[in-house]
Amino acid sequence: MKPTYSLKKLKELSKRYARAQQVPLHEARDFVAGKLGFPHWNDVTKAHRTGWNPTQTQLSSIESLLIGLLPGNETGRPKQGSYIANSIFEEDLQHGKIKGHEYQISVSLGDVHMCGTGWHLHVPEAPNKAPRLEIAKQIEHEAPVYETQFQHHALRIALKRAEQVRAGIASDWPRRSTKPDKEGVVRHPISGAESKKWYCLHCDSSMTGKQIAKSLWHCPSCDASPLDIHENAWWLEDGDSGAKPLEDIDIQGRPDLVVDVADTRLKLELDPERITLLIRSALVEDASNASERLGALFADINIHEDNDVWITFDEDLWPEHKEPVSALAVAALLGIRVEQELCLRELPFAWPGLGEHTSSTVEYTEMMLKAYASQRADKSIE
Ligand SMILES: [Zn+2]
Repeated sequence: MKPTYSLKKLKELSKRYARAQQVPLHEARDFVAGKLGFPHWNDVTKAHRTGWNPTQTQLSSIESLLIGLLPGNETGRPKQGSYIANSIFEEDLQHGKIKGHEYQISVSLGDVHMCGTGWHLHVPEAPNKAPRLEIAKQIEHEAPVYETQFQHHALRIALKRAEQVRAGIASDWPRRSTKPDKEGVVRHPISGAESKKWYCLHCDSSMTGKQIAKSLWHCPSCDASPLDIHENAWWLEDGDSGAKPLEDIDIQGRPDLVVDVADTRLKLELDPERITLLIRSALVEDASNASERLGALFADINIHEDNDVWITFDEDLWPEHKEPVSALAVAALLGIRVEQELCLRELPFAWPGLGEHTSSTVEYTEMMLKAYASQRADKSIE
């Protein structure tokens, strides 16, 4: 197993743990770190950088934590957690071609992701959530992904993969979670509760065991996850009778493909904050000693409405006739004008001239501390 690959798997295990336990990701990561003998997740990544890797035994012990979240043994149930084990310990990235156009397909947390140059097709795990195809506008004239035929072809492949994922997830569940008994009773795959009527905490719908099992424990009405599905509506004032029963006719299959075309190129937005950052960086470059560097950092940089920049230096921290060459050059590139002025403000440290003798901040700090210390001896308190 490649080193970075095992860290990736630990991350994925943490993600799954967070999802199953409904805890924030950082908590799940710290929990996983604890199981590996580290105080925090940060210590895991630090150790990893210096060559540490989890052993297969450690990875398996974390994996069994996940399997432990599923309900216990049951007759007729396939080998415990086989799907989770397989999907986590095997690289699930697959490659293929449609009409000579390369794509990659992978599964992350139950969702299917299919990508080619300039496009990304996402099929959510929830069986009644729409698949979405994002296409970069800038490849409009070169990519076949704009053709309906190509889109249908890609969608067929992704949906097939999604079906495999669903089957795999269900294979780790108790049989009763996907097959209602004669009375229509089904078993919640995570909580283990059994009932023939179920309620969605998210949209207050009620549904039969057959309906919820068919949609693999995602709410058939609002797509809420299995964690939101309960055997009674304890949160409603009227209890179970306050829920809206779902008719079969209301339950639709997977909606049609949604196509999103957007220019995905990064755009530069020159706002005052960004202009200030560039100008200040250039001013620091223009500073030739510790004092001027403080002057560059302490200077007031104001951006006017038309993006012209106004720099106010402190007289004691920036020489009167010194041209901020780099700052002016940066401004020229950005196409903005620069106005400069000098002022006298209260400075953060006394004796600003001290910094003119060195370019080292350490040396300057030393001199400045000495100056503060020595004046105590020879000056009376005013
Ligand atoms: Zn719902």
